[in-house]
Amino acid sequence: MIGTGILKGMAVTARNFVGSYFEKDRLTTVQYPEERDPLPENYRNFPFLIYDTDDPEAGLRCVACKICEKECPPQCIYIVKSEDKKPDYVGKPQFYAKVFDIDISVCMSCQICVEVCPFEAIKMDKVFELSRRERFDALLLRKTDLAKSNEYYHSICPTDAAEVDAKLAEAAAVVAKKKAAAAAATAATPTSG
Ligand code: SF4
Ligand code: SF4
Repeated sequence: MIGTGILKGMAVTARNFVGSYFEKDRLTTVQYPEERDPLPENYRNFPFLIYDTDDPEAGLRCVACKICEKECPPQCIYIVKSEDKKPDYVGKPQFYAKVFDIDISVCMSCQICVEVCPFEAIKMDKVFELSRRERFDALLLRKTDLAKSNEYYHSICPTDAAEVDAKLAEAAAVVAKKKAAAAAATAATPTSG
């Protein structure tokens, strides 16, 4: 019959229209900011720097190798390397970033800085409410703004954070084993005289 297709189409539209008011999974409107949908674990926005322990300065994992600064496509990372060194998480003396800035007005959230960091020191954050009235300084995140704890990383990306912890613990165990072997070898060496 002529017009059956149109009637069927209208029935589907009507079903969807009514369903959108009553079926829970169809109620897609969220009363933001009072209500928020949970963000998926792989959601990302801008990078942040991870620190261990409870000291955001001494515990920063970044060793100022500048690989991320070099690889960042829009060149929005600015790092000044220290002249002195501080111990990293396995006690090895490392340089650190005296200055670490990210211009989030330029950052394109590509995550390349995270991919290239050999020290698991920079990860992608999920904070997105970062609009500012000022266009310049307010959008330049400094080291103190970027530093966030490993616990925070666990809270936003539990799966990835657990994998990173396991990897770092494995590396620390290898270093500890080597140190113990070297100490045992030194103790076993007979002293002259
Ligand atoms: S965040 Fe990683 S890649 Fe960037 S300077 Fe620090 S250690 Fe190097
Ligand atoms: S996410 Fe991309 S654009 Fe942003 S700082 Fe990292 S490398 Fe640069």
